[in-house]
Amino acid sequence: MSRQEGSPTSGVFELLGDEFEEVAFGHDAEVGLRAIVAIHSTVLGPGLGGTRFYPYPSETEALVDVLRLARGMTYKHAVAGLDTGGGKAVIIGDPATDWSPALIKSYAHFVDGLAGRYLTAEDVGTTQADMDVIRQITPHVTGTSPDLGGSGDPSPATAWGVLWSMRAVAERLWDSSSLRGRRVVVVGVGKVGTALVHHLVRDGAEVTVADVDPEAVERLVDQHGVTSVPPEEAHTVACDILSPCALGAGLDRRSIPQLECRAICGAANNQLAEPGDGGRLAEAGVLYVPDYVANAGGVINIAEERDGYDQGAAYQRIEGILETTHLVLDRAAAWDLTPAEAADTIAEERLAAARAARPRR
Ligand code: NAD
Repeated sequence: MSRQEGSPTSGVFELLGDEFEEVAFGHDAEVGLRAIVAIHSTVLGPGLGGTRFYPYPSETEALVDVLRLARGMTYKHAVAGLDTGGGKAVIIGDPATDWSPALIKSYAHFVDGLAGRYLTAEDVGTTQADMDVIRQITPHVTGTSPDLGGSGDPSPATAWGVLWSMRAVAERLWDSSSLRGRRVVVVGVGKVGTALVHHLVRDGAEVTVADVDPEAVERLVDQHGVTSVPPEEAHTVACDILSPCALGAGLDRRSIPQLECRAICGAANNQLAEPGDGGRLAEAGVLYVPDYVANAGGVINIAEERDGYDQGAAYQRIEGILETTHLVLDRAAAWDLTPAEAADTIAEERLAAARAARPRR
């Protein structure tokens, strides 16, 4: 069979390199489903990761994104000490116009066909209600409603993990896990940021918030008397901890020299615009907790569903992010690495050990 030049899957095996175990394409023209599941590694357990429903400009961009995200999940789970691997899914389309119950059900059958090698969850563009629909068709889904045996919205669990990561930062910088009197700037007060602010206020921190949505800011100002700053200035505020909880890469060549914080610890994914920003933060004397270490609470929470969900046990496990944060920062100091590089080495060691212990198929 000749290779189809220009087809979105031409060169797909080059993209997979020697790292990825499996990529599956789900197609159902009748309901408009175009989905890709990428399983990066099942060395530690089934590939677990959310389904992103997003209007990718091209199928190639969707493929590149799902591979990047699946690989990230392998590392996140490995550092968090979870027995789950790296997987991720994308549905190509705009959830506002392309979503339908039939499409979600068709997607659920696709996931079911992967026979548990991939466990799905909520992500950008999908909802807990979607997970509940998927649950009607396949058991290979997490983050369903509590009445269906799931753990529900992961955001409170993510916020809990960020709080414990901040406590590790406090232990390192101020010899006490207490955040009382510490000035913390939370940028992005959506689901995770708002839950985090509640915890910080309760712990006696002096909180400043920023968000592009003025209503989200006002709610917290009214409720807790926190202060606020315009989002474009938030990173320049003199503070103890800056907590990025919005979207995307906020830390780059332009913003890092303007920072006035001692440490960065937040939930947002992909906080560093490029890998070199880890070095720039270190040079600026800012202690950086890698995003995937600080924000692992949500995934630790859903991974607990595999043994029958118990919120108390899950939250206790999430508190282990304090120790993980120390482990990563100790490694960075001992090996003269940036924290992001140190976290990667810890993940790679765990994966190598699991691979070595696994019988060859
Ligand atoms: P969300 O959509 O509920 O909240 C994001 C908030 O950021 C919104 O209030 C939005 O108005 C605000 N925002 C957007 N752009 C901004 C900007 N430029 N400046 C300031 N505020 C801005 O999302 P969420 O679930 O709270 O997640 C927040 C971040 O944490 C995301 O990066 C997400 O990928 C990451 N994360 C979330 C979870 C989880 O459990 N929800 C888990 C891991 C990582």
